Amino acid sequence: MIQEKRLVDEFIEFVKIGSESSNEGKFCNIIAEKLRKLGAKVFLDKSGEKIGSNGSNIIAKINGDNNLPTILLNAHLDTVTPGIDIKPIIEDGIIKSDGTTILGADDKSGIAIILEVLRVLNVEKISHPPIEIIFTLSEEIGLLGAKNLDYSLLNAKYGYSLDTHNVRKITTSAPSHNKIYIKIYGVESHAGASPEQGISAIELAGKAISRLKLGRIDEETTSNIGKIKGGTATNIVAGYVEIEGETRSHQEEKLQKETNHIVNVFKDVVQESKKIINGKSIAANIKTEVICEYKKFNLPIESLAVQRVIEAGKRIGLDILSSKGGGGSDANVFNERGIPTCIIGTGMQKVHTKKEFIKVEDLVLGAKLLLEIIKFC
Ligand SMILES: [Zn+2]
Repeated sequence: MIQEKRLVDEFIEFVKIGSESSNEGKFCNIIAEKLRKLGAKVFLDKSGEKIGSNGSNIIAKINGDNNLPTILLNAHLDTVTPGIDIKPIIEDGIIKSDGTTILGADDKSGIAIILEVLRVLNVEKISHPPIEIIFTLSEEIGLLGAKNLDYSLLNAKYGYSLDTHNVRKITTSAPSHNKIYIKIYGVESHAGASPEQGISAIELAGKAISRLKLGRIDEETTSNIGKIKGGTATNIVAGYVEIEGETRSHQEEKLQKETNHIVNVFKDVVQESKKIINGKSIAANIKTEVICEYKKFNLPIESLAVQRVIEAGKRIGLDILSSKGGGGSDANVFNERGIPTCIIGTGMQKVHTKKEFIKVEDLVLGAKLLLEIIKFC
């Protein structure tokens, strides 16, 4: 049986160990040791060196019934900032920080749940499939750990990322995501003496942005310009601006369409800026770059990973709903690498803010659901 006190105590222990992205080393070693004590074969990879973290991805394997397909369990080791010196408070069944930091339930609630479930499997000698546990680095800064993992080490046929809010709602799909980087090189000139001899990169950026369709494009597609930076002084016609934007969609064609829309509008505006000054042609220039952050996934309701959760939910009196996600997580990468993975909830709420909290009853419920999933795999 899931033991509430043991689970809560361990969760509290975890959140007190700071593990902001790129600085997961200490937390990583503590978790690796706990997994070894639970009988797992633990492997720490070298991806930290590659991505600038002092930790490692943890790959832990636990033997099980080889007649059953191997199951993957995942959570991430890192947190967003401010995540150092967290002082958790338990009040009226709710765990929160003291308001000066995040809590780190994202994603330490996932790690605590997985360890508690492994403990119950051990103590109660419950038969289960072979289990592969992947605790990743630097999920919050671009899924870097998951992207750099060696997938040839894994046998998992399907899996679960414990990395969303509501225990009663699983995420079975998530969009593809492109990042768009645009650099506009204008022509500098004195803003008072000879403005006509310049081409303002800021003006071009403004013109382009005003022509864009942004925000929610349709129910499965969004786009945004999130960052703009440029210019040097008020008396200089701006020679340079950089812009960062993004598009997301559950459909690849729509993602490409909106990405092209943004890039082409900027290119058109820069093209239109050509002019002749004193018999000489001047023009702005543009450089654009599109980077695919991750690919979409969409698990059908009949798939093994989804069905296992729905059935497990029924057995413990939970009506599990499936939902579409709007963000990316390690699950996007696992799905892309051929391991159908859906995202299940841990109870974490208001994540990425200092108001982050988790109800003890939800944390316990998350553990009960995961245990129930594994028991009947
Ligand atoms: Zn997370």
